[in-house]
Amino acid sequence: MEKILEIENLIVSFDGFKALNQLNFHMEPGELRVIIGPNGAGKTTFLDVITGKVQPTEGRVLFKGRNLRKLKEHSIARLGIGRKFQTPRVYLNLTVRENLDLAYNRQKNVFSTLFNPTTASDRRSTASLLETIGLVPKADFPADLLSHGEKQRLEIGMLVAQSPDLLLVDEPVAGLTDEETENVGALLLALAESHSLIVIEHDMEFVRQIARRVTVLHQGSVLCEGSMDEIQNDPRVIEVYLGQKPSLDAHQLKLLRIVAAIAWSDGSLLPEEVEVIVQRLSRVFASNTANREHLQEELRDYLSQTLPIEDLVTELSDRERELVLKLSYEVIGSSVRNPEEAPVNEAEAAAYQRLVALLKLPPAVVQTLENAVRNEKLSID
Ligand code: ADP
Ligand code: MG
Repeated sequence: MEKILEIENLIVSFDGFKALNQLNFHMEPGELRVIIGPNGAGKTTFLDVITGKVQPTEGRVLFKGRNLRKLKEHSIARLGIGRKFQTPRVYLNLTVRENLDLAYNRQKNVFSTLFNPTTASDRRSTASLLETIGLVPKADFPADLLSHGEKQRLEIGMLVAQSPDLLLVDEPVAGLTDEETENVGALLLALAESHSLIVIEHDMEFVRQIARRVTVLHQGSVLCEGSMDEIQNDPRVIEVYLGQKPSLDAHQLKLLRIVAAIAWSDGSLLPEEVEVIVQRLSRVFASNTANREHLQEELRDYLSQTLPIEDLVTELSDRERELVLKLSYEVIGSSVRNPEEAPVNEAEAAAYQRLVALLKLPPAVVQTLENAVRNEKLSID
């Protein structure tokens, strides 16, 4: 079968700087491909070339066998490539249904049968699209009243209304809640049944949710390709991400910083405190053993920074609050060799009490968690 997308020896230079450098890529029709890579790897430029926003300096892009060279953006869109940008572009004063109708009609009028020979993707009615994007109950709300995640889903729906064969989606879950992230993931998986999709994403948790085949970009070229498991364990990938982008997500980083702030509160961070944090957190966060060692290195780096706790405790889930409390309690206890005799360090104890107050956990829960840590500690000793 003909490839939906073939990219050969692509080079894009900006004043001599090669944002894309000898890039080769191909994709089968119906595939869902996730593209990841550190900042500056060339991901956005890659999409810009496919959509005609940027012209290749060398090499070529073939869509369903057709060379896209010299085609303007709107002509490429008409051929069946749709792009979803990072920020939603919906009409806020129109209802959800009206937004979809508009997208649907625009495609009907603009696309004559001449321009749009039968495509693999089915044309959906507004009603079935509303179902797909999960917005039936909000069909008659103005888009203005939707949450950020719902707007993202609406915009994906508007893109689908235009019946593209290939959908390009740039960071669809940036800034979304966990629940909305799952919704968008489920939506993309549903769309993958009838479309070819390229999704660019930073959020690893999300990538794991949807990924089949993953392509890693680095310095404008394909570094490697494979299943999520394969690329996560590829030493080249680990190396590229080391020092450039934390393998911790923003939330995990926050937990780490709170615990670190407690340990730092007496003005020093003892080696045994560092070890507790590094060992425990790497066990909680690492997805596999190979990952754990790398993560421990990263954690040691982060521990050299201090930050105010007050700014960090907002937006934690109940489970995270409990985890933070346990870890902090364990950390302040770790600087005391014999918990029966020596009192905990005063500054740390004060910081810990302040944290307990900030976390707003019920006193009974605090008691239970502290007891659990003490029992674990005794059983280890
Ligand atoms: P990513 O999306 O992976 O973070 P980009 O494709 O945005 O990476 O950028 C790749 C590299 O190309 C970066 O170093 C960026 O500074 C550079 N770049 C992107 N667009 C331009 C441009 N229009 N002019 C000059 N340099 C650019
Ligand atoms: Mg980008």
